[in-house]
Amino acid sequence: MTDERSVAIIGGGPAGLMAAEVLAAGGVRVDLYDAKPSVGRKFLLAGKGGLNLTHSEDFAPFLSRFGERAAQIEPLLRAFDGPALRAWAEGLGVETFVGSSGRVFPKDLKAAPLLRAWLHRLRGAGVYFHMRSRWLGWSKEGALRIEGPDGEVQLTPRATVLALGGASWPQLGSDGAWAPWLAEQGADVAPLRSANCGFDVAGWSPLFAEKFAGQPVKPVALSVEGTDFHRQGEFVITATGIEGSLVYAASSLIRERIERDGQCRVLLDLLPSFDAAKVSAEVARGRGSRSMSTHLKSRLNIEGLKSGLLHEMLSKDEYHDPAVVARTLKAMPITLVRTRPVAEAISTAGGLRFESLSDQLMLRSKPGLFCAGEMLDWEAPTGGYLLTASMASGRAAGQGALEFLGQ
Ligand SMILES: Cc1cc2nc3c(=O)[nH]c(=O)nc-3n(C[C@H](O)[C@H](O)[C@H](O)COP(=O)(O)OP(=O)(O)OC[C@H]3O[C@@H](n4cnc5c(N)ncnc54)[C@H](O)[C@@H]3O)c2cc1C
Repeated sequence: MTDERSVAIIGGGPAGLMAAEVLAAGGVRVDLYDAKPSVGRKFLLAGKGGLNLTHSEDFAPFLSRFGERAAQIEPLLRAFDGPALRAWAEGLGVETFVGSSGRVFPKDLKAAPLLRAWLHRLRGAGVYFHMRSRWLGWSKEGALRIEGPDGEVQLTPRATVLALGGASWPQLGSDGAWAPWLAEQGADVAPLRSANCGFDVAGWSPLFAEKFAGQPVKPVALSVEGTDFHRQGEFVITATGIEGSLVYAASSLIRERIERDGQCRVLLDLLPSFDAAKVSAEVARGRGSRSMSTHLKSRLNIEGLKSGLLHEMLSKDEYHDPAVVARTLKAMPITLVRTRPVAEAISTAGGLRFESLSDQLMLRSKPGLFCAGEMLDWEAPTGGYLLTASMASGRAAGQGALEFLGQ
């Protein structure tokens, strides 16, 4: 168990493991606690998508992905950026490569070998892992309350690093329960919200939802009305709305519009490789006795889900008006009314505000308590930015704790 000579890390995701690495390398005894039977569960899940570790783009565009929080993330990334992360993985015997999109993956696209090698090295460095050990906040006396397999214990380590994650996919361990406990300690915690998430539409018809839920729309370009967001990609129809990579890329903008206006309109270009004049000309061509559906299929390859979307969005009369059909194919308005719950999101926005933290990521109101990872108030799109910033902040918190002990 943790004693007064050790540092306690709570949370064994990439941020906590990185903090453990730094502290153990600094010669400090580290006890790491995690509520789950094993660490790195979300990291392993990320491996199902190929484990996008980081991104190969230059520092300035990389940093810009952190939007409003770029200034706070910059020093963390200066100390541990994409190239540093790749070198670190290679130090664990995991070679990486840059995919066509510029994203960086392990050569075998798997998370398990990397995690296994990492844990092996951490154990060798003297990190003690305490699984099924849930942190419950602080006792009245200020001790950490940990509920482990043998009941509750109270700990007073020399320093503590919290790396508890956000609130997405709570079944993997990060449930956001920490937010009120930190607020009670004087921390400023922004509400935890969905990031890289799906949205509900005002309502698909039952027929459309039943027939098309789970199907991808591609290629398609999506614009967020009232913003300059316009990007080509693909997304997926869900029973209640839309999700998938293109939607995630626009998700912080859409979420903010919904919070502000109660809804957000996006425009879909179902034929991104044809210009509007070409689409109008093709739709307006004589179709003889052929139905509009057959006509659109033969002239513009509009069938299946794209045809279903047209039927869903247009009345019968509109569907037979070539001008309306052409306009809708190039700019189909979809009204999004709700952000999907954070439990379903890829990541979490909001969290512990940097203003509550020192440059070493120590909570100003609680000396000796450091925080790292997705529980901090930053967000970024998918592309490897989430893991990079989680690990960079874990490293900074570990170094902060080392310096604190040196004092
Ligand atoms: C489906 C999916 C795919 C993803 N793919 C990628 C990707 O390819 N690239 C990328 O960059 N990012 C990806 N991410 C995001 C990335 O996994 C997270 O940003 C990252 O894991 C956050 O690291 P963390 O250490 O801050 O938190 P987490 O990984 O969430 O770890 C937090 C740990 O704290 C523990 N914990 C929480 N509360 C307590 C408590 N009270 N007591 C004890 N332990 C507790 C949890 O059990 C957990 O082990 C993906 C996320 C999801 C959901």
